[in-house]
Amino acid sequence: MLPGTEDWTLQAKCRGLEDQLFPDGAAQKQARKICHGCPVRNECLAEALDNRIEWGVWGGMTERERRLLLRQRTDITSWTELLCPPTRTAAAQDGR
Ligand code: SF4
Repeated sequence: MLPGTEDWTLQAKCRGLEDQLFPDGAAQKQARKICHGCPVRNECLAEALDNRIEWGVWGGMTERERRLLLRQRTDITSWTELLCPPTRTAAAQDGR
C-alpha cells in the first residue's frame, strides 16, 4: 500500500510494515497474512482494483489474484462502489 493516498490508510494494519507487502511472486501469499483483521481491507482492495495497481499485496490479495479477479469481473466499473458503500466508508473513517 502506498502511504498517504487516502484517509483510510491511517487505519491500515500494515502501517510501518509496507516493505513486507511487496515481495516477489509466491512470497506474496505469505505476506498477505498481514491483512487478516485489517479494518480497511475493503478500501485497500478497492483502491488497488480501481487504479489497476499491479504490484504487491493490497486488500489481502496478491497481484496475481487481483489480475484474475479483474479478468473475471470486467462488468464491475467501480470496486469502490461495490466494496465500500458510503455507510461502510464513513464507519471506517470514524474508526468504527
Ligand atoms: S488490507 Fe493489507 S495492505 Fe491493505 S491496508 Fe490493510 S494491512 Fe495494509
